[in-house]
Amino acid sequence: MKEKKTDSAMPRKRLFITLMGVTCLILVGVIFLAWWVPNRGLANIHPDLPHIVGVLMAVLSGIAMLGTGLLVLTTALGKDIFLTRFMRLFVIKFLLPLIETVGRIMGVDKERIRQSFIAMNNSLVMSQRKRIAPDRILVLLPHCIQLFDCEIKVTGDINKCLLCGRCDIKGLVEIGRKYGIDISVATGGTLARKVIVEKQPKLVLAVACERDLTSGIKDCYPLPVIGILNDRPFGPCFNTTVDAEKIDEALSRVIDRGKPAH
Ligand code: SF4
Repeated sequence: MKEKKTDSAMPRKRLFITLMGVTCLILVGVIFLAWWVPNRGLANIHPDLPHIVGVLMAVLSGIAMLGTGLLVLTTALGKDIFLTRFMRLFVIKFLLPLIETVGRIMGVDKERIRQSFIAMNNSLVMSQRKRIAPDRILVLLPHCIQLFDCEIKVTGDINKCLLCGRCDIKGLVEIGRKYGIDISVATGGTLARKVIVEKQPKLVLAVACERDLTSGIKDCYPLPVIGILNDRPFGPCFNTTVDAEKIDEALSRVIDRGKPAH
């Protein structure tokens, strides 16, 4: 059952991997042109200069191709092969803006690229196979998960929920109690950042839309963030839902059950 869910994330990652391949080819092409165009001019400065610059460009192309290969292998195998933490930095800070540009030129929907990026980021976080004590994991929820008409306000303390079951907060409270982890409901990015600063978690599991998750993952680096997309049956930011099973499954893969909760 678990393997099935891991496989279902693959089509999402595939888009990012495809765009990554295209970006890598473009980069190699640009590197080649950067060497080839001034090649003859360089010979006028020194006869050996075209070869030296050529070797340098070949090394840069090799690094680009090796990095892409390593990234694909890490996410495909779900294993920390080599420098996964550095690769997260590379993907978040460098590759994502580049891939968004390439995707825009190719006419790929921005939301799909973000979904793919989130799946790729989750893969890299999971591939590190770290087990973290429950009291160092923070689950962050957007306030729109709570039923709009609910008379209780769970922002600040999710345990105020009366567990009536009219929205997904009930299931999430139960998950929090099952694992003994902190769950915070944030009304926006500023509050989410404040909660992270206060609680100092080692890992964040965040539920949000594509845009908020992408910016959250970027803002939080180097803190690892697992992103779970919410569903928006009534449109954005209103009575949204989340598959509690996805959260349970992700938590079961990162929680160190040997360490005491709180
Ligand atoms: S489960 Fe019920 S009490 Fe809890 S937040 Fe949702 S609507 Fe309110």
